[in-house]
Amino acid sequence: MDYLIRAISKDGDVRISVVTSRETAERARTIHRTLPVGTAALGRTLCAASMMGDALKEEKGSVTIQIKGGGPLGTITAVADHEGNVKGYLQNPAVDLPLKENGKLDVSGAVGSDGILTVIKDLGLKQPFIGQVGLLSGEIADDIAVYFTESEQIGTACALGVLVDRDQSVKAAGGYILQAMPGASDAVVTKLENAVLRAGLITKMLDSGLLPEEIADRLLSEIGPYSILSKREIGYICDCSKERVERALLSMGKGELGAMISEQNHAEVTCQFCDQVYRFSKEDLEKLLKNAKKA
Ligand SMILES: [Zn+2]
Repeated sequence: MDYLIRAISKDGDVRISVVTSRETAERARTIHRTLPVGTAALGRTLCAASMMGDALKEEKGSVTIQIKGGGPLGTITAVADHEGNVKGYLQNPAVDLPLKENGKLDVSGAVGSDGILTVIKDLGLKQPFIGQVGLLSGEIADDIAVYFTESEQIGTACALGVLVDRDQSVKAAGGYILQAMPGASDAVVTKLENAVLRAGLITKMLDSGLLPEEIADRLLSEIGPYSILSKREIGYICDCSKERVERALLSMGKGELGAMISEQNHAEVTCQFCDQVYRFSKEDLEKLLKNAKKA
């Protein structure tokens, strides 16, 4: 089971989210048929989105992360709801790159590092909050940390890991976002930096089977007492439906819809998040157009 915890230090200076997301990353892989480097890039982005969505207070809020790095994978998109459930896709899932010299997947090479990371927080208000930062490395975790530091002024360490097995399935996935709240002393920030170094690589922690609670403990125990605020199951969930697709078809405009009916006789719409295909016969489309004209 994939799940996410949030914890806070007793004095409120430090907070952390930790998630394990193997099943979520594996579901994304099977839907989009990604090769290992795409599996890692999309899995990392979904992992970050999940933690950022879970941190929203707004019931109907959502977080979208979009990474345009200029690399062969193209644009990567991940969307999370306020309970940390995610969905996403990348433009070119079939991209394959040779491993780096150290034997690791070349995620930054596939994502590209000359581009922009955009975070859109829809809090149910008229205007969404949009933050943008230039990519630092294209490894995604560093770029998320830069986003928080520059765009939200919160000192952040972020680690995201996806381990791909020999059969190309996801062996382990997860990550953390560790933050010093504004007003935290320099001493606290130094302690956090040391804790991150001592805790070691996230992929190692995940591979050795550490649970989110154990990862949080490694990072927080030296800072002082802390408490776990929440624990919740997360997953890859797409909320598309025939009604939503109908609304999307209608939003093309009556003229476009009319042209579709006379030219194609039917329509097939594939959800980019889950690959579900929605089929509309000529009669379906005519009914839709009739109702639209009435409205
Ligand atoms: Zn869908």
